[in-house]
Amino acid sequence: MKLVLLGKPLSGKGTQAALLSKALDISVLSLGALFRREVEKKSVLGKKVEKYMKKGTLVPHSVTFPFLQKYLPKKDFILDGYPRNLAQAKALEKMCSLDFVIDVHCSNRLIQKRIMARRSCPKCGKIYGLDVHPPKEGICSCGATLIQRKDDTKAIVQKRLAVYTKQSASLISYYKHKGIYLQVSGEKNRYSLTKNILKKISY
Ligand code: AMP
Repeated sequence: MKLVLLGKPLSGKGTQAALLSKALDISVLSLGALFRREVEKKSVLGKKVEKYMKKGTLVPHSVTFPFLQKYLPKKDFILDGYPRNLAQAKALEKMCSLDFVIDVHCSNRLIQKRIMARRSCPKCGKIYGLDVHPPKEGICSCGATLIQRKDDTKAIVQKRLAVYTKQSASLISYYKHKGIYLQVSGEKNRYSLTKNILKKISY
């Protein structure tokens, strides 16, 4: 199965990618997560992408596409956060045929509420919400100390939201036209949302 997860920043698409990955036994490819690792390592690539991530803007095609070519599994995958625009959708289409594009929808009001509450595990990638899915004493179930993403600030999320709003309309109509677009609510409990998605994709 080849799935794409679309959604605003903090919509919950990363959480759903992880839960679907477990349920379907399919690996997740998140360019955002790969880029964050490179930034942490202070690699040449990390230095290149950091300036875009700090601004909340998209990393250019000349960087994202070779990454996609290198890491996209041949058979089954869940793509979290790619494509972000029509050019990326067309580039992806040349490489494979998707089964479903799942848009995790969430209101801007709830996203504002989630900004300060999100904590992520730098080791296993698990995502927590201090309010609705709190970790035990700031520690992930895998034992690592949780962190707050550097781009989870009000100003950067505002910019990431603006980029999403500008790019997503054409992306959504592109996939609607192909008959593979599904919209789900990212405002529900994370586990019932996963069940709902699995039902919709007839798994
Ligand atoms: P995410 O982890 O999906 O929220 O992405 C974090 C940041 O990584 C974004 O704000 C972009 O700067 C960069 N990024 C992630 N995915 C892409 C993509 N498909 N195209 C361009 N930049 C991306």
